[in-house]
Amino acid sequence: MEQASTHRLRNLHSPEQLRARLDREGIPRTTLSFYRYVRLRDVEALRNELYAEWEALGVLGRIYVAPEGINAQVSLPTARLDDFRAALDAREPFANVPWKIAVEDDGRSFLKLIVRVKDKIVADGLTDDAFDVTNVGEHLDAATFNLRIEEGALVIDMRNNYECLIGHFEGAYLPKADTFRGAIEEVVEMLDERAKGREGARAAEPEILLYCTGGIRCEKASAYLKHAGFTNVGQLHGGIIDYARQLKAEGLKSKYLGQNFVFDERLAERITDDVVSTCMQCGTKSDRITNCHEATCNMLLVQCEACATTYADCCSPSCREIHQLSLEAQRAWRKGRSTRSTKTKAINDPEGLRKRIREEEELLALNGTLHPELTAVMPVPQQPQ
Ligand SMILES: [Zn+2]
Ligand SMILES: [Zn+2]
Repeated sequence: MEQASTHRLRNLHSPEQLRARLDREGIPRTTLSFYRYVRLRDVEALRNELYAEWEALGVLGRIYVAPEGINAQVSLPTARLDDFRAALDAREPFANVPWKIAVEDDGRSFLKLIVRVKDKIVADGLTDDAFDVTNVGEHLDAATFNLRIEEGALVIDMRNNYECLIGHFEGAYLPKADTFRGAIEEVVEMLDERAKGREGARAAEPEILLYCTGGIRCEKASAYLKHAGFTNVGQLHGGIIDYARQLKAEGLKSKYLGQNFVFDERLAERITDDVVSTCMQCGTKSDRITNCHEATCNMLLVQCEACATTYADCCSPSCREIHQLSLEAQRAWRKGRSTRSTKTKAINDPEGLRKRIREEEELLALNGTLHPELTAVMPVPQQPQ
């Protein structure tokens, strides 16, 4: 396809325009996600076909296509769900792909349609050729997953470390590593430690249950663990998203506590009222997850309402000082600095953050600014008494 025509298969509006368009639309939308590991040929052409086809259905969202499969998180007019289902089923690789509908949903989770060609549908850092990715752990529904937990299975969270912050299964092992590959290696180490001295160590390990947001990571993780010699591996089918749906539909008791971290504007959807985390700035119980509003920082953190006020929605006094400048001054300061638009970097050392905040407040009281570079171009902002 030519450059010019490919170009039209893209959304060229600003976020403000897009949000306004969504408001004007005023029709109910449904947010859902699906994925499938399946061999796809000519992904570039497929990408363009999907974009044209789905845009016509009013689909918004983020879709990755790769030679190994598809991974999609989308929202679409609820009235078009049947058409979308038919469009998916009409394509052999996607026929009957199970999708999961988000529970807590205001239909505003995505502002535009992005279909991206990737090397992999999940960046996992694993060499797939080394093991059979289709030899996966047993798929368990919510009721069975609950039952197996009650029977004493070991539950392991396969999401990124920051995703476990504001919610997780009761008693689950939460890997500390900050990559998928690191996490899975950590899990194997932990399991080996537990299995020490056991006859036939890995194979004799009691049941291992994996879960993640939508189930996709556990496909790979469970295949990896089975390849490593663990025989009794189960996984939560459809992940936390579908677990939440099944809880509602079947009136089951949730063994997942707190909120589920999601990758759209909402950041989280609540599963239970339990608060499993604390404010990273003051240590009080809170599971309010947010990004630092200083655009070059944008770090994810858990921040209580009181601290949001104290730090003007920022992670630190240093970011607050910039964020409280006039927009013009902020722009001047940001010149030459890169702004981080990703929502996927989190503060992982609350102790360190609190120490930094104390030091910065002292310095600020002493010097009136934490950014001496500002005084070169503008007067020092007055500190409120
Ligand atoms: Zn706080
Ligand atoms: Zn910050």
